[in-house]
Amino acid sequence: MSKSVIIIGCGIAGPVLAMLLKHKGFDVVIYERQSEIQQSGLTLGLSPQTFKVLNILGLAEPLLKECQALDEGVTYSQVRKQELGRIDVSRMRRGFGWPLVLAVRTRYCQFLYESAKERGVEIHFKKRCVDVLQEDERVTAVFEDGTEAEGDLLVGCDGLHSAVRDILFGKEEVTYMGLVQIGGFSPTPEVLKSDKATMRQFFGDGAHFMGAPVSSDQMVWVTTIPQPTEAREDWRRLSLEEAHEMVKGLQAASWENGPKQLIAGATGVTKYGLYERPILDIWHKGRVVLLGDAAHPTSPHIGQGANQAMEDCYHLVRLLCKAGPFTDTSLETAFTEYESIRIPIVRKSVAQAKKEGERRVTVGKEACDARDEAILAGGGHDPERMKVQMELIMGPFVGESEI
Ligand SMILES: Cc1cc2nc3c(=O)[nH]c(=O)nc-3n(C[C@H](O)[C@H](O)[C@H](O)COP(=O)(O)OP(=O)(O)OC[C@H]3O[C@@H](n4cnc5c(N)ncnc54)[C@H](O)[C@@H]3O)c2cc1C
Repeated sequence: MSKSVIIIGCGIAGPVLAMLLKHKGFDVVIYERQSEIQQSGLTLGLSPQTFKVLNILGLAEPLLKECQALDEGVTYSQVRKQELGRIDVSRMRRGFGWPLVLAVRTRYCQFLYESAKERGVEIHFKKRCVDVLQEDERVTAVFEDGTEAEGDLLVGCDGLHSAVRDILFGKEEVTYMGLVQIGGFSPTPEVLKSDKATMRQFFGDGAHFMGAPVSSDQMVWVTTIPQPTEAREDWRRLSLEEAHEMVKGLQAASWENGPKQLIAGATGVTKYGLYERPILDIWHKGRVVLLGDAAHPTSPHIGQGANQAMEDCYHLVRLLCKAGPFTDTSLETAFTEYESIRIPIVRKSVAQAKKEGERRVTVGKEACDARDEAILAGGGHDPERMKVQMELIMGPFVGESEI
């Protein structure tokens, strides 16, 4: 008997989960609240975990062609006016089989959506999930337009503001972290033209700037700054007038050797506040389970949000395959094991990202000196962050995939 899965959300996790489930013979339908795939956001760092999971579907190599692989990372102290170190990122491919890349989020979403459609996944837009009912081993998703959908189980892949999470565990506000990021895309300025694909980080006093190539002639840049008044988590592209107004007061707009030129050349600018939610001890209730940002939103400073979502997809599908016939008991076992594998890892990832965000906005000469000294001693990276990141990118499996 076929097993039917309802997925709420067609961001990053939703389509990948759907394709993996379909690949293993499940019936699957995605419901997305937007009227089309979202055309907003900047870039996502994709590390080997994403490629390992997409390789199960034959999508890793095609995705690589859509992304910019990075060769090196250079860290610079804007306080000391000194380079703090250089890391050879290209060795990641040698060590882990897949590189570290930057994906333009809109392009990545479109790629996943098209791939899911090609594989026959049914996707419905303009379907905002507002309730989930569970009765007699069936789950019903209720949508804002009054329609309903029924399945054997439901996965909430509906992001930071997950409605499914609120429905399961009660509404709780997301917490503004006191940081905003302002970023955009710009033509590569003369001063940053290079044979190597280099991600550059500039650590200042109370501000951080990152610039990296997304193609042979375009770069993405993002500056992180503290802002006590809450800024919306809004990935909308600003109008040129709004953008001009926004960037002229930025500290990094006067930093030479890249930041100044990138900010001045911006063709589109986005500003968003960073938010967090506690990581729950349990991600499921009955036949409904959370995945990706719905379960564990993260600040973006170590580039793990999208990659951790891929690990969730891998383990959930692997465990659902192992579960045999869907009964309340077999699903309870699968969901409990999924949580016991994933929760310790995402706790580590989210905590490290938060710490990295705080380090980026270090204030005061003495504190900045201590931070810069640590990066210098680590050869261009904070050793603790590197240790955690190296552990994370080993996931979700070593050797052969089990699905
Ligand atoms: C528009 C947007 C832009 C982003 N840009 C960046 C970026 O530039 N850099 C970065 O590091 N991270 C960005 N993120 C976050 C990043 O995509 C996620 O951290 C990560 O990829 C995890 O993916 P996810 O699928 O769990 O969540 P998401 O990618 O957030 O996807 C969730 C999906 O669920 C849909 N949804 C939400 N509520 C409902 C509902 N009630 N019913 C039906 N559907 C619903 C949303 O519309 C969305 O498509 C962005 C997220 C969004 C939504």
